Amino acid sequence: MALIVQKYGGTSVGDVERIQHVARKVAAARAKGDQIVVVVSAMSGETNRLIGLAQAISEQPDPREYDQIVASGEQVTIGLLAMALKELGVPARSFLGLQVPIRTDDVHSKARITEIDGTAVHAALARGEVCVVAGFQGVNAAGDITTLGRGGSDTTGVALAAGLGADECQIYTDVDGVYTTDPRVEPKARRLERVTFEEMLEMASLGSKVLQIRAVEFAGKYRVPLRVLSTFEDGPGTLITLDQEQNGVEDPLISGIAFNRDEAQVTLQGVPDRPGIAAKVLGPIGEANIEVDMIVQNVGADATTDFTFTVHKNDYKRALALVETIREQLGARAVKGDSDIAKVSVVGVGMRSHAGIASDMFKALATENINIRMISTSEIKISVVIDEKYLELAVRTLHRAFELEGAAPAA
Ligand code: ADP
Ligand code: ASP
Ligand code: MG
Repeated sequence: MALIVQKYGGTSVGDVERIQHVARKVAAARAKGDQIVVVVSAMSGETNRLIGLAQAISEQPDPREYDQIVASGEQVTIGLLAMALKELGVPARSFLGLQVPIRTDDVHSKARITEIDGTAVHAALARGEVCVVAGFQGVNAAGDITTLGRGGSDTTGVALAAGLGADECQIYTDVDGVYTTDPRVEPKARRLERVTFEEMLEMASLGSKVLQIRAVEFAGKYRVPLRVLSTFEDGPGTLITLDQEQNGVEDPLISGIAFNRDEAQVTLQGVPDRPGIAAKVLGPIGEANIEVDMIVQNVGADATTDFTFTVHKNDYKRALALVETIREQLGARAVKGDSDIAKVSVVGVGMRSHAGIASDMFKALATENINIRMISTSEIKISVVIDEKYLELAVRTLHRAFELEGAAPAA
């Protein structure tokens, strides 16, 4: 008898019929003799609606109250799915994060799971029940509800699989696997049979929302077998593999293209060019809990420099205000910002052993007259920041340039 964690996303539980469909899938999996733990998201659109309500009352919502509100979407779907299962004659029990309990730190809206107590879930499973657990939420040491960041139900699924010692974690969603790029932007995108954790981690961190980055981190760290599958069609999905060798005879140079529209750029112009400047600029940003992604410092001719970095659009206004204060302190010339930017990245472990990917990427973008504002690279990825209006063109151009559409899936 295996223990399987299945996670169903928002579209998969988007209405009553879909919840009943999920219930039938869960019932079929249980009928094979396995123990099933199901993690569900809120109905699609619901979390956005709740965030909208919070923001309509307060521009900077109180973090504790914000989590109380946005966690409520999952409370509805666990109850509905447990009921739908019972209607099919399957014993089921729903659990809020705090009823499991899924313990987290107390960073509201970005909480990290610190511990999962599997006792209650194991006891329910032993009674023959399907456990339906609310995704996206946990409880801090003070007993307050926390949430795990957008897309956090993936992390709940993987963390539960790790914490309960499950045999597999299956992420059911509205696409039938991980594709070479978001199939909504490039319809010619191709499903990958397998992708390494390393690549998936890069793709997730660079904006591919098919899996939340923390879910991939967790799965890699605790070696949880992880698969992305469709809720609506049967198929093998995509297996996230630990070992590169498992990936086939030869790794493709580039596995995928990720993009992110959620960043904004902040530039401090004319900063006196002396040691310690980067720390002076970024120190207060870090203290304000604002994550910085790309950083570029240009060498100026007149003993001054321009310092540019990107942050999440949600943090853009706060970052601009902080940098304005820093500008005054440092006597820098001006602060400029732009939120109409996008980041496009090519990812692939094959890059390690091949030179020239960067120049191929830049050439392809140049052919379409797409201007590159910032560049950053790591061993297995190259990212560029461009004007947001060119994003879709850039993704399709790179998808073609790296021949991702035609190639057979790595088997
Ligand atoms: P869920 O609600 O099930 O968690 P998400 O919307 O969070 O679903 O994630 C699935 C979506 O991720 C797909 O509909 C697709 O548009 C998007 N996506 C982005 N990049 C990729 C990719 N490389 N492969 C597959 N889907 C992707
Ligand atoms: N409902 C949450 C969100 O929309 C969590 C999730 O769907 O994974 O972000
Ligand atoms: Mg998701």
